[in-house]
Amino acid sequence: MSACILDGKALAARIEVALQEEVRLFSNTLMRSPRLAVILVGAVAASHSYVKAKSSAAKRVGIDSRVIELPTEVTTAELIRLIESLGDSTQQIPFDGILVQLPLPAHVDTRAVLDAVPPKKDVDGFHPENAGLLFQGRPQLVPCTALGVQKMILDAGIPTAGRRAVVIGRSDIVGKPLAMLLASRGLGGDSTVTLLHSRSPNLSAFTLQADILIAAVGVPGLVTADMVQPGAAVIDVGINRVDSQLVGDVDFISVREVAGWISPVPGGVGPMTVAMLMSNTLQAARLQSGI
Ligand code: NAD
Repeated sequence: MSACILDGKALAARIEVALQEEVRLFSNTLMRSPRLAVILVGAVAASHSYVKAKSSAAKRVGIDSRVIELPTEVTTAELIRLIESLGDSTQQIPFDGILVQLPLPAHVDTRAVLDAVPPKKDVDGFHPENAGLLFQGRPQLVPCTALGVQKMILDAGIPTAGRRAVVIGRSDIVGKPLAMLLASRGLGGDSTVTLLHSRSPNLSAFTLQADILIAAVGVPGLVTADMVQPGAAVIDVGINRVDSQLVGDVDFISVREVAGWISPVPGGVGPMTVAMLMSNTLQAARLQSGI
């Protein structure tokens, strides 16, 4: 039997509708909309299309977003100065959220730039303070993709408590925070988590045990049907361009015949990432305004 499709696009649209109302209430109380600054460096086509999707979503939910475009030659120091000025909370209408679209050019110290974002405005959840709070089980702002995957799991009613979750990929952006969320106490957590990476031998030995299998790697078709336990939930974070088409890390056609649930690419995790950015921006605005 074919797997249930985890339709991230439809779920993201439902989340946006709920956010519209919450943003309206916030704006009525504070007499201003939540504000998001997006820093976009250089001319990477994928980055431009991601930023466009984020700006459109902000508009739909009522968040006031501004894109600041900078040339590839910008320096680390210039970026940090810009973030400091955008993060200045004494401005008449301050920015609630600051996002630096990645990747930055190779000459820029990405770590130093991300560390300059004030933790309460860190809507991507990449600052060490936010990573640490997530690690300690008291999350403040959680990386959007990881949060989006957890929401998809919860929305589909996929049980996590006591289940085996295998995450392939250990990036600070996706794999590690997702492993933390799934291992943390409470709803959408309490899983027994295994984190696989490029040095893990014999992926199948682990993936075949997974009740929940998440691929966040960037290798097209890495997860094949023979690596999946029948009935497992398979969530594909990967975005790869093959012959000008977007594909994930999971061989969708074969895996859907084995899995219990599967997320497509496109239309799965991608839209959820954007919806969670909107949710984080509202959360950041609330954190700073105390409402
Ligand atoms: P990354 O390159 O930072 O990390 C990839 C991880 O995969 C690494 O930890 C590496 O150890 C592991 N890996 C590489 N080859 C492997 C292999 N053969 N077997 C097992 N593990 C292997 O990437 P990232 O930023 O975490 O992104 C991963 C993928 O997710 C990419 O395709 C990216 O485009 C996509 N992505 C999608 C979204 C979304 O919203 N859908 C958001 C972020 C990233």
